[in-house]
Amino acid sequence: MKAAVYEGKGQVNVREVPVPDLGEGEVLLAVEACSICGTDLRTYRHGDRKITPPRILGHEFCGRVVESRSPDAGIRAGDRVVMYIVILHGSDRYVEMGRANLSDHRTTMSYHHDGAFAPFVRVPAAAVQQGNLFRVASDIPSDRMSLAEPLGCVMNAHSRLGVGLKDTVAVLGAGPIGIMHAAVARLQGAQKVYVLDSNPGRVDMARRFDIDGALLVRPDGSHRDEIASLTGGFGPDVVIVAASSAAAQNDALQMAARAGRVSFFAGLPKSDPIAPLDVNQIHYKELAVSGSYSEKRSDFQAAFTLLQSGRFPADRIITHHLPIERITEGFRLMESGEALKVCIMPASQP
Ligand SMILES: [Zn+2]
Repeated sequence: MKAAVYEGKGQVNVREVPVPDLGEGEVLLAVEACSICGTDLRTYRHGDRKITPPRILGHEFCGRVVESRSPDAGIRAGDRVVMYIVILHGSDRYVEMGRANLSDHRTTMSYHHDGAFAPFVRVPAAAVQQGNLFRVASDIPSDRMSLAEPLGCVMNAHSRLGVGLKDTVAVLGAGPIGIMHAAVARLQGAQKVYVLDSNPGRVDMARRFDIDGALLVRPDGSHRDEIASLTGGFGPDVVIVAASSAAAQNDALQMAARAGRVSFFAGLPKSDPIAPLDVNQIHYKELAVSGSYSEKRSDFQAAFTLLQSGRFPADRIITHHLPIERITEGFRLMESGEALKVCIMPASQP
């Protein structure tokens, strides 16, 4: 089969690899859709210490079961499934508190196991046993369901933000993740939802969604005055940073209303994680700042259900569909901001 194999920094090559052989308890999926994640792009450009090449990337996927060697009768050939990609190998206090995403006893697809930028992907036995495969209703398109994984990550951040009817919300970063945050905030009943970005093309794209405004981030900081006046002079109650930038983190702290909540959803590059922040904004305004990493099973379940309901604008967030051979073009489209989500549609031919 032809797969997109990460072979080191700057190298994702589409080449022939064997179709995976199944061991006891494992399941083979024919991949119908696998969306490109920001982390796939980051691994391609900068490498990742946690990934030992060669490795097939891609962890936001929907596939059809072609073979199951699992005793679990719930998973049968022909089923279409999405996967919660956190796989546990033991337990600890974080698993016990329902936060498996923070456990050291976890492995994930495309990091420790080959991912789904390939016609076929093997699901490890532990994942099948832990119930990580979620069966998709037959009439729901696979590209849409490939967003269950990133939307679950968004839900994880929202599980600490508790956005509701009393809140105004600003999202910094109008990439696919920023748009997902805005859409979730809207669904949760936020009074006003604004999205900000420094790329004018992305600001234009954001306006296609059900939000109250998309603002251009300007070097002179005038966007902060703009967002203040749009929120009664107070600033947003909730600010979500969905851009990997210290400037955006500072913007968030400065624009948040007093007693506001700020999510540093996006981290900074691992090579440059130290940033000067005006922490007095946290102190004097009594801000609650939270981080977010990966997702809990309950987040994935919520994302899965929301996508199946059709109430989430997934089909508009996916702007491009490409065959596997054009994956590096997909990376470029996401980088330039021309695309929101790019979905790879692998041909299911060995
Ligand atoms: Zn992802």
